[in-house]
Amino acid sequence: MIQVNQMKKSFGTLEVLKNVSFEVNKNDVVAVIGPSGSGKSTMLRSLVYLEQVNGGSIRVQDQDLVRDGVYASPQKIKEITSKMGMVFQHFNLFPHLTVKENLELAPRVVKGESAEEVQRKSAELLAKVGLSDKADHYPARLSGGQKQRVAIARALMMDPDILLFDEPTSALDPELTGEVLQVIKQLAQERMTMMVVTHEMGFAREVANKVMFMDNGEFIEAGTPDLMFTNPRFERTKAFLQKAL
Ligand code: ADP
Ligand code: MG
Repeated sequence: MIQVNQMKKSFGTLEVLKNVSFEVNKNDVVAVIGPSGSGKSTMLRSLVYLEQVNGGSIRVQDQDLVRDGVYASPQKIKEITSKMGMVFQHFNLFPHLTVKENLELAPRVVKGESAEEVQRKSAELLAKVGLSDKADHYPARLSGGQKQRVAIARALMMDPDILLFDEPTSALDPELTGEVLQVIKQLAQERMTMMVVTHEMGFAREVANKVMFMDNGEFIEAGTPDLMFTNPRFERTKAFLQKAL
């Protein structure tokens, strides 16, 4: 689904991603772990063209988003990135739109889907995340966990083949993380292909089939959760896990 090769990204003189390479296969649930500032968000944002890389290649579903530092045409970039949905730490809901309107806007405007079609989908997806009764509420009236579940439903409205989560529970009070992780877990059971940047090690261990550890702009090691959590090969991974677990 995703092949990244030698991806590089700098902000000015700050080298944030150094030769990052990895693959995500269909039905993978990849947990990305690593210290704050190590480049996890930049890596994820680069996949959906919220950041432009300075070198390397990103292929999504066998199409080149960027190849050896050269980007595809704007039209092609739109086409490729439209198959990926992103869920952010801070939800990024539109405050002046109701829950239902938040869900229905992009498929209407970007994909030109009919009102009937988007209404059918939003009702179905709000039911899926357990928020049918909040359709006409504004985001301000929702808890953080409810906001994040709306954000997940909104991402699903675009029928993505891949979902990317950037610390989806880091802004939540601890008692609200479970309801969000439960939704992601359900998506994993439905075989959605996902990359989840997370500090929730229990979740990573339980739900992911692959864990990748990033430190200082590089993936240091990757493996099955069992291997990564019980028998990491590198000192840096061990040191991180000792603090995180
Ligand atoms: P993580 O998500 O692992 O915490 P980030 O990808 O957010 O790491 O950030 C990696 C590094 O890049 C940090 O040093 C951060 O300050 C820097 N950085 C991120 N975004 C920008 C930006 N837009 N401009 C300048 N520096 C940035
Ligand atoms: Mg981050």
